[in-house]
Amino acid sequence: MGVATVPDRDLEQMAEDAAPWVRLAMVDDVLNLARANSLWPLTFGLACCAIEMMAVGMAKYDLDRFGAAVFRPSPRQADLMILAGTISRKMAPVILTLWDQMPGPKWSIAMGGCTISGGPFKYPGEYAIAEGAEKFMPVDVHIPGCPPRPEALIAGILQLEEKIKQGRRFGRGG
Ligand code: SF4
Repeated sequence: MGVATVPDRDLEQMAEDAAPWVRLAMVDDVLNLARANSLWPLTFGLACCAIEMMAVGMAKYDLDRFGAAVFRPSPRQADLMILAGTISRKMAPVILTLWDQMPGPKWSIAMGGCTISGGPFKYPGEYAIAEGAEKFMPVDVHIPGCPPRPEALIAGILQLEEKIKQGRRFGRGG
């Protein structure tokens, strides 16, 4: 039985058809590079971890070095939500509303044990705390600690930037 071959004319047509997509892939790479290096976090804190988050914007840690220090006061202008602090069940729907108001593509970081799993507030009989942000929204990067130091948040942001550059997406939204 002979091996089927694709006529040259068809190959040329396939290359021509694929050309726009190849160009779009290159545009995506450039866009991802721009997105990764110009993150706009939402000005938004939940509890003690937020103090560490504020510290990264100060002169000592200077988040501007990584293009992520333009904290925005409105979710409609932000593309990064840093979940910093304990999430009460009462607050969870409010967080989700803010997340939904952020335009895509958008990303989120769970900073600290509380936003990963409930942290020190997770115990038998507990009724008021959401045991992790992933119970109700997507999370791209997790940063353990109670609280994580500002250096850990910077490491998390750098990891997120790497993922954005590679075009990797997690969870829903965006
Ligand atoms: S992880 Fe620790 S420092 Fe962060 S909000 Fe929870 S209790 Fe506070």
